Amino acid sequence: MAGEHFEMLLDEDKPKEACGVFGIYAPGQDVARITYYGLYALQHRGQESAGIAVGDGEKITCRKGMGLVGEVFTEDTLRMLKGHIALGHVRYSTAAENTIENAQPHNFYYKQGMIALGHNGNLTNYAELRRKLADSGAVFQSTADSELMINLIVRAGTEDLASGILKTMEQLEGSYSLILITEKKMFGIRDPHGMRPLCLGRLGDGYILASESCALDTIGAEFIRDVKPGEVVMIDEDGVTALQPHRDCKRALCVFEFVYLARPDSVIDGLSVQQARYALGKELAREYPLDGDMVIPVPDSGTSSAFAYAMERGLPFREGLMKNRYVGRTFIRPVQVTRDLGVRLKLNPIREMIFGKRVIMVDDSIVRGTTSGKLVQMIREAGAKEVHLLVSSPPVTHSCYYGIDTSKNGELIAASHCIEEIREHIGADSLGYLSRSGLHAALAPFNPDILCDACFCGDYPIR
Ligand code: SF4
Repeated sequence: MAGEHFEMLLDEDKPKEACGVFGIYAPGQDVARITYYGLYALQHRGQESAGIAVGDGEKITCRKGMGLVGEVFTEDTLRMLKGHIALGHVRYSTAAENTIENAQPHNFYYKQGMIALGHNGNLTNYAELRRKLADSGAVFQSTADSELMINLIVRAGTEDLASGILKTMEQLEGSYSLILITEKKMFGIRDPHGMRPLCLGRLGDGYILASESCALDTIGAEFIRDVKPGEVVMIDEDGVTALQPHRDCKRALCVFEFVYLARPDSVIDGLSVQQARYALGKELAREYPLDGDMVIPVPDSGTSSAFAYAMERGLPFREGLMKNRYVGRTFIRPVQVTRDLGVRLKLNPIREMIFGKRVIMVDDSIVRGTTSGKLVQMIREAGAKEVHLLVSSPPVTHSCYYGIDTSKNGELIAASHCIEEIREHIGADSLGYLSRSGLHAALAPFNPDILCDACFCGDYPIR
């Protein structure tokens, strides 16, 4: 799909998730099909490629391709994937290029058999580790972190794979929630900071690992618990064995999971994403008690906070922007048509609703500021008397190095402009961002000390 005639649609002004992972160990069940549905539930975490690897006790069979889960897999493909262990992956490329070579799971032969791995996150010492491995004679097929990790694990010189994983974790820096399968076992691994989510569930006699709990709900599995930061869970015929290496690190779950990335019906490390977004909206109402005729969300990620803002202020909550839910992530670049077509393909103002009104629009974040300006303009053109924009997170002033594409520092509008300059740039009557202390207050039930919010302040938890 990539090429000069295609470009990213409206979501270009949002942070991009790196990946979603799903794993199942369930003898006697159609693990490939269940994984397919699990990946559907995680599609929001990555839309560029999808893959499923299945272990049957003797070998691993893997199918992957570029595109959405529904585009990559057919009934025939799923029928070919037979076994009792499966690993699924959806990918958005951040560090590595968007090519089929980097699509996951990565699948390898090693001296004891086969191994496949799917990764969500980004290693900050990737270059250093790769250079060392290359010096020792390793060859690579891709530029993905996951291939490097497989190399480290199988070269660890340990007797069993679990020990190899624990030894490898001592060398890794950065964020990683990963699932690894062999022909007979499944492993779930979460980095010591707990930056990316990973949870464990049960389906009948089988076990599930998933980036988000919404994937467990979708397939009818029961949530057991989150994988702890720094923990390795091994799942085989003996059930679940938890291995916890001793490395003591500052916890740093990505706050953007609650702001924008995760699905609202997920619960991460004990906090409901939906409730977190409500709390952000309420806090926004305390900081910016505006008067207006209605509150409208930028759908869908701004909806929960906009609703909570409206409730708190006693103002009508209205759908002022209609979202086209059938638009994919890429589109054919319009030729000789309005430049704003990209935004209009996805969102259209409901003129009859907002004409002559003082509109308070709530969005979850502004990254580059490109879309916000177009939305404000669209709402004005539809006849709004005033357009006030409130953002339920602080200004994004720093890039992310942990697997979320928040754009480069130079592209972040808040890295080089004050709030008044941004307001002027997007053409709103007023603009308000939730403060960092407001963000912390909203997420207080969670203990903000265990969150990473480096893109709002530059206080990076990992070098
Ligand atoms: Fe999440 Fe921002 Fe931290 Fe990256 S820098 S992990 S996007 S909070």
